[in-house]
Amino acid sequence: MSDKYADIIVDISHEAIDRTFEYKIPEPLLPEVEVGSLVDIHFGQGKKTRTGYVIDIHDEPEFDPAKIKEIFGVRPKGIAIESSLIKLASWMHETYGCTMITALKTVMPVKETVRRTKARVNVADVTIEKPPVTELNEAQQSFVDAFLSDRESGICGTYLLHGVTGSGKTEAYIACIRALAEQGYQSIVLIPEISLTYGQLARYKQHFGDRVAVINSRQSKGERYREFERAAAGEVDVVIGPRSALFTPCRKLGMIVIDEEHDTAYKSDQSPKYHARDVAAKRCLIEGASLVLGSATPSMESYSRAKKNEIRCFRLPDRTGDAVRPEVLLVDMREELRLGNRSIISYDLKRLMEDRLSKKEQIMLFINRRGMNSFVSCRECGEAIRCPKCDVAMTLHRDGILRCHYCGYGKKAPDTCPSCGSKLIGGFGTGTEKVEEEVKRLFPDMKTLRMDRDTTMKKGDHARILDAFSRKEADCLIGTQMIVKGHDFPDVTLVGIMLADLSLFTNDYRAGERTYDLLAQAIGRSGRGDKRGTSLIQTYQPEHYAIAAAAAQDYEGFYDTEMTYRRLMHYPPASHMMVFLMTGEDYETLSAASEEMTAMLKNLAKDSPSRVFVIGPSDATIGRINNVYRRVIYAKSEDMGLLASMAEAADAMPVADGVLLATDLDPMNMY
Ligand code: ADP
Ligand code: ZN
Ligand code: ZN
Repeated sequence: MSDKYADIIVDISHEAIDRTFEYKIPEPLLPEVEVGSLVDIHFGQGKKTRTGYVIDIHDEPEFDPAKIKEIFGVRPKGIAIESSLIKLASWMHETYGCTMITALKTVMPVKETVRRTKARVNVADVTIEKPPVTELNEAQQSFVDAFLSDRESGICGTYLLHGVTGSGKTEAYIACIRALAEQGYQSIVLIPEISLTYGQLARYKQHFGDRVAVINSRQSKGERYREFERAAAGEVDVVIGPRSALFTPCRKLGMIVIDEEHDTAYKSDQSPKYHARDVAAKRCLIEGASLVLGSATPSMESYSRAKKNEIRCFRLPDRTGDAVRPEVLLVDMREELRLGNRSIISYDLKRLMEDRLSKKEQIMLFINRRGMNSFVSCRECGEAIRCPKCDVAMTLHRDGILRCHYCGYGKKAPDTCPSCGSKLIGGFGTGTEKVEEEVKRLFPDMKTLRMDRDTTMKKGDHARILDAFSRKEADCLIGTQMIVKGHDFPDVTLVGIMLADLSLFTNDYRAGERTYDLLAQAIGRSGRGDKRGTSLIQTYQPEHYAIAAAAAQDYEGFYDTEMTYRRLMHYPPASHMMVFLMTGEDYETLSAASEEMTAMLKNLAKDSPSRVFVIGPSDATIGRINNVYRRVIYAKSEDMGLLASMAEAADAMPVADGVLLATDLDPMNMY
């Protein structure tokens, strides 16, 4: 038997050793070591014991065999990692500029010693009746036909299913999954965690019985690994889960579905800050699978690709059943003030609420909390009370405690202004609690439920509130964006959207997109049953393009305006953008380091063949969190590879002690 050699990535995240090292596989270990194995090796001068991933095996050594060390141990055999996941890691390394080991750790299923796990609480334990066979409508069928005929011609395309919630997207996914399963292919369905409800799972379970694997963040690592094993063994037809389910090892992957593909949860918040949509596209390419994206409000990224015919777009126009689109009213709150109404509830909203109360129909009031809080500020000097450790104002809660939402610091609200001693100090702004108080004041008989961060601290709170509302134990549900996702309440015929513009006050370049998306979803909550609904938007900027387009339910119009702005400003998806975030406790040191970094990046930009803009350095929007200062540099270019190489160079550059660097490609918000 000839000798075998392995190329190994050592488990140390450091740019300088981010390459493979060659080791000999000793005879006794030959049967156990394979591509993807986790092995024990000696590494470096001190012969330290390390682990590493085998990413290739070959017969001829590249180095002097006398100097090659031997692998001395193999970790218990886990799921055989097809080389495809290693290829995917390698692509992530090149695209996001992270080290190879970080990329490998992101894609590799980790085997944990499985302790006696508790009974698995998932839908697999529930028996569910077979569903009635749904006949697809014309729009659904034309997508499924195109999908299947493409596959028959060997085309593994990308498809965008553009349709509102309830238009039948899930039913269309299921038809594709079923057809693929008959040919022995598996599918992965990604769903934002918040929508991964019992009802959603039950539908897949109805169709595929035990051949469903479920991944979620409440599972132990052991439970998750079990589901991975079932998928790798080909025991399931479909895997359902949030972002991380994307890395489920499958025996024969046929399709990845990303439902609600515009959702921000698909962007990872840890290094590498990948976007599930991009990684899924790459994985599909490597494994010969198709990619299906579904959304009522497609991301700018996907819709621009559809416009360029890079992906095929299918519209599912109508809600199935008889429900019709809600009527939408816009109320200009400036006008309201001129009319002498100082309440946070406009005259029109009040009138409609009275009407619904008398008809015993239900109401939802949605308060957009993104970018806004209830501050305590001084009417004499204007100072807001800020967190001592972060550059943000603290939020007042009803229990009288001021809390910092960034570091968690809390203290009792003071009676006098800490800056000037004035007694004229008080709450400013509108939160869910304040809306609830106002509703109670205007309608003493109205039964209300409130759903926000404070009322959903405990597990199960979420479901308890929604259940109570669906049993009609309350007339009105008041809440943050939590209440707009997914849930169907057929008796809701009025949705009031308070302060629609708040998400526009942030400096986020995606604020328009977020606003449109939130409004479209909130509007869609009304009139889900057989009665026509009304949605009323209260805003200070009725003329803003995102608000006007949402009110007109005109996605196309919104997209055109938004895209013009992105092109003008070189923001994604018109261009790519890399963020370099530098943090440190000493501002002087950090500032100097960020200047050096900028100089280095500008130098790279000067010598590069593609056009790239380097902007900064400047303080981040929130310049300090928990006493750590934050500085940012942005680089914009259409050449994504160039940006990745800039990130890699930045990573390799020595920076001052105590200064850390993080990079983020095409961020979901400005830093
Ligand atoms: P989405 O995923 O777009 O929210 P669903 O697939 O969940 O939409 O469909 C919404 C509802 O309509 C579900 O109750 C589903 O069973 C039903 N439905 C979907 N397609 C059809 C159809 N072709 N005929 C009848 N009912 C359908
Ligand atoms: Zn003051
Ligand atoms: Zn703080």
